[in-house]
Amino acid sequence: MPDTSPPDASSLTLPAAEGDTLYCPVHPERATSLRCNRCGRPMCVACAVPTPVGYRCRECVRNQQDVFYTATPLDLVIAAAASAGVSLAANYVAGLLPLFLMLFLAAAAGGLLPQIINSLTGRRRGRYTYLAVIAGIVIGALPALLPNLQFILLGAPPTALVWPLLFNAVLLAVAYGWFRRPSI
Ligand SMILES: [Zn+2]
Ligand SMILES: [Zn+2]
Repeated sequence: MPDTSPPDASSLTLPAAEGDTLYCPVHPERATSLRCNRCGRPMCVACAVPTPVGYRCRECVRNQQDVFYTATPLDLVIAAAASAGVSLAANYVAGLLPLFLMLFLAAAAGGLLPQIINSLTGRRRGRYTYLAVIAGIVIGALPALLPNLQFILLGAPPTALVWPLLFNAVLLAVAYGWFRRPSI
C-alpha cells in the first residue's frame, strides 16, 4: 500500500540542532549564523541592522535610538513650520526659473532645510522629525500645486503638474535622505 499520508511537517524544516545553527526568534523558520553583537541573540539577515559598530538586532538599535532622539514636541512643530516655509519659498522661486534650474534649486533647498531646522532646534533630533519635514514640505508646495491641479480638472493636459511634482519630489528626497541617515 503506497504511503499517501502528508509529509511530516518536521521533515520539511531544517534539523534543529546541527552544529551551531541558530534560528531567528522573529522568523523561527529561518536558520542563521548571525548574532547581535550587543545582546547576542540570533537574528536572520532580514532582522539584522547594519550599524557602524557591526550588525545588531532591531531591539538594540531601537533602544539606542531612544537615547539619541531628544527632540521635544515643539521641535517637531518648528521642523514642520520651517519645512513649510522653505517649501513655500522654493516652490515660488521655482515657478520663476527655467526648468533645468528648478532641480538644482530643489536639491539646494532640500540640503539647506536640515541645517535650518538644526540651528532652530539646537540639533535635537526625533524619531519622527522626518514626518514633520515631509508634512511641512507638502503643505508648503500646495499653493504651487493646487492651481495646476485646478487647470487639469478644467481640462488642461496633466503635463502641467510634471515639473512641480518633480521639483517637490527632489526637494523631499534630499531632505528626507538627510533626516533618515543612519544616526547611530
Ligand atoms: Zn541585540
Ligand atoms: Zn528574522
